Amino acid sequence: MSHDAHSPWHAWHAAAATPAVDAAIRSLYAGLDAAVAERGPTCWQSGKCCHFHDFGHRLYVTALEIAWFLSRVPPPPEPAGLALPQLGRTRAGDCPWQVGEACTAHGVRPLGCRVFFCQHGTQRWQHELYERYLSELKALHAAHGIAYRYLEWVAGLEEARGVPAGTPAGRPG
Ligand code: SF4
Repeated sequence: MSHDAHSPWHAWHAAAATPAVDAAIRSLYAGLDAAVAERGPTCWQSGKCCHFHDFGHRLYVTALEIAWFLSRVPPPPEPAGLALPQLGRTRAGDCPWQVGEACTAHGVRPLGCRVFFCQHGTQRWQHELYERYLSELKALHAAHGIAYRYLEWVAGLEEARGVPAGTPAGRPG
């Protein structure tokens, strides 16, 4: 991992640590959770949605979401990418916070995790909700003067963890 003193991740980590941005992200996620709950989807906790390779999809998030997530979530139960499929644990390319079929980061998971359900028929409203709340998230960035970047979840986690929160720009970590 490189600890680049000029990395934009310093700014995302710093923004995520401010009370105003923290409150704005929590409020946005709460609004989305309520909108999802109104639609009443069922989650069977199959874990399929987090096995990205098997399910044939990728999770995309914003860099600010990753910074916010990393500042609030406990470390993953196993090192990221550890290959222990025989135990049902995280494989390379899957989310490090999935253990067995369960999400161990449920309360702080990003927008895409909150809106995605594998239940047939839910796709009708998922796309609409996702686009609406992604627009709100973009507006949140603009309102707080935060650079916007949209990137793949697992690769973004690895990139962000190379620049620890609390390492000020200009001072190598
Ligand atoms: S944060 Fe939770 S819901 Fe999202 S991909 Fe990881 S394990 Fe799945």
